[in-house]
Amino acid sequence: MTTFADFHRRSIEERDTFWAEQARLIDWHTPPQQICDWSRPPFARWFEGGTTNLCHNAVDRHLALRAAQPALVAISSEIGTERSYTYEELHREVNAMAAALQSLGVVRGDRVLIYMPMIAEAVFAMLACVRLGALHTVVFGGFAPAALAARIDDAEPRVVVSADAGSRGGRVLAYKPLLDEALQRATRPPAQVLLVDRGLAPLPLQPGRDLLWSELRQAHADAVVPCEWVDATHPSYTLYTSGTTGRPKGVQRDTGGYAVALAASMRHIFDARGGQTFFCTSDIGWVVGHSYIVYGPLIAGMTTLVYEGLPVAAGATPDPAVWWRLVQRHGVTHMFSAPTAIRVLRRQDPEHLKRYDISSLRALWLAGEPLDEPTARWIQDALGVPVVDNYWQTESGWPIMTIANGVERSAGRIGSPGVPMYGYDLRLIDEATGQDLQGAGQKGVIAIEGPLPPGCMQTVWRDDERFVDTYWKSLPGRFVYNTFDWGVRDEDGYYFILGRTDDVINVAGHRLGTREIEEVLAGHAGVAEVAVVGVADAVKGQAALAVVVPRDAAAGGDPARAAALEAELLAHVGAQLGAIARPSRVVFVGLLPKTRSGKLLRRAIQAVCEGRDTGDLSTLEDPGALQQVREAVGRGLTKTL
Ligand code: AMP
Repeated sequence: MTTFADFHRRSIEERDTFWAEQARLIDWHTPPQQICDWSRPPFARWFEGGTTNLCHNAVDRHLALRAAQPALVAISSEIGTERSYTYEELHREVNAMAAALQSLGVVRGDRVLIYMPMIAEAVFAMLACVRLGALHTVVFGGFAPAALAARIDDAEPRVVVSADAGSRGGRVLAYKPLLDEALQRATRPPAQVLLVDRGLAPLPLQPGRDLLWSELRQAHADAVVPCEWVDATHPSYTLYTSGTTGRPKGVQRDTGGYAVALAASMRHIFDARGGQTFFCTSDIGWVVGHSYIVYGPLIAGMTTLVYEGLPVAAGATPDPAVWWRLVQRHGVTHMFSAPTAIRVLRRQDPEHLKRYDISSLRALWLAGEPLDEPTARWIQDALGVPVVDNYWQTESGWPIMTIANGVERSAGRIGSPGVPMYGYDLRLIDEATGQDLQGAGQKGVIAIEGPLPPGCMQTVWRDDERFVDTYWKSLPGRFVYNTFDWGVRDEDGYYFILGRTDDVINVAGHRLGTREIEEVLAGHAGVAEVAVVGVADAVKGQAALAVVVPRDAAAGGDPARAAALEAELLAHVGAQLGAIARPSRVVFVGLLPKTRSGKLLRRAIQAVCEGRDTGDLSTLEDPGALQQVREAVGRGLTKTL
């Protein structure tokens, strides 16, 4: 039997042979002529000359063997519904959606922006886009109008697909007013909007622009729309993510490389087979949702669960056992979630975990943020199955590090997301010198030697220069992909993640750029200066905290005025960016701690907020500034308590 070490070595040393074998896991209309064109680094062109289609691989190709097998089960614990679609039914729905989009003028290469809750139609829309060779741009349903408008302007979609509302924690969140406002703000709004009416919120239609899915679906019920055979390198989608600047980046992914990477990951990492059931609790607005709610499980011929709701289902009596009920009911074999959700469940009575028969479950994968040891142990003991940490990014599209149980079984190591996956030539690099760090226990920046394996981002949408400058030129003397994460390796090659090297924070597994929040706060009339940092939080991993210098100095000192301004600022961020970006607290100071060259000392602010040692402060301009932060945070804490 192959060891994982051999498997990995071959993926790097015999790259093209290795990936040519993996490419056989999917259907090609025309087989690739060249496995990897690396003639123009850092732009890797995988499976050059091949033509394929993501929707064909996710849906059509299973019709021969799995037409009657459930492909997708959409469950809402919020409104108490469950809808199941076999592969044949999914095929029909996707064809109808593709025909509807076609009737609105969508053709190969167009963008379609999807702003939707976790309902089956969101998945139909994604699959319909790639069927047509159009790119989908899914924007998380929690984003507010300004953030949505910025994404609309960057993507320039021909059509937006949306719905009347989502529901979260028992509260209906109307999408249409947010979308209308975003469309009004956008400088390049689409001509048409396709709307799913769930009957949860009023859905006023703008004549000529807004159309109802129920009507178009009827009109195109029996449509057959052939899959567009696109080049392997044809982009399948863009997905926005946060970086160090306020401007979100459109991560662009290809078609063939992505399909192969996902098919390979389903086999080697998840050890999954057709007919089994995958339950990923993420949201289609995030990369995990793209890869492991939609494409990965469907490419593998599995049944995938699409879940609208919280880990503790809302209702007259909140249900902390809802996930385990679903595991029993649908015979879930593979489950994927985030540490935050497990920390939420850990606060509940452990008896809930014993209420249902979960013997179908083979393992639970967790990703998106560091998995702390108590959480890992608790859930592993409670479920009695392996809990597998995995580290990746929106940019990679599939795990960069984990344990590949489909290649060689291993228990992994608690606290570590594992070892570099096949295809990833991982390096730990000294940030100052750019040298590779070889020894165990040395802290460095985690980087990847090019080419990035199949499935990883091709470029930043319409901004090749930003792709090159941001990711490939930020380590001295090196031309490697920078993950912007600190890491350390032990003697056996297991990595440990030590946090971000940039200003990105991770709140409940969601990546937020502190600069993005700062820019919004700085745009408020009451704010002179602002610093946003991530501070440790027992449940969410990190929470955003804003340190603000008010324009009116007196406002910070007067408790009533400070409280009013804090509320106003929180509402402002909520309205501009969405609730997920809202800081947990705002504290007021007279000045911010900066270096003599004027650089904000975020790490020192963060250390003060977390009660840690601030480290070297020799460059600090005015030591009084840090003391002010300390006092303001102290006051804030008392207030919160
Ligand atoms: P995103 O692009 O939103 O998926 O965020 C990616 C970032 O989340 C990474 O750069 C890490 O900082 C963090 N991250 C993801 N998975 C893990 C993990 N298993 N352990 C620690 N940090 C993680």
